Amino acid sequence: MQKCDHCNTPFTYGEINKSLWLAYRPIKCRQCGTKHKVLIASRFVLSIIVVPITVFGIYLTSNFNLSILSMLAMVLLLTIPVSLLFPYLVKFSDDCT
Ligand SMILES: [Zn+2]
Repeated sequence: MQKCDHCNTPFTYGEINKSLWLAYRPIKCRQCGTKHKVLIASRFVLSIIVVPITVFGIYLTSNFNLSILSMLAMVLLLTIPVSLLFPYLVKFSDDCT
């Protein structure tokens, strides 16, 4: 798991997850207060994962005459288990670098 660049305090799974769900909000280290931003490369990796799932959902909807609601449900069902892995995939870096 990612640690603070400044004091090596590990971030918790919850802290990282919260940052991701709040549109990559920077994480503030609870030990030294250093702000950490999600690296652009990590955002890119996450969108590579999420976009195909969404496209797949849209594809199924148009091919099997599913309602928008069932498409959304399907995309969510596919995204939620994958997003549980996101905190292990993203990298943070402190603001100064
Ligand atoms: Zn720190």
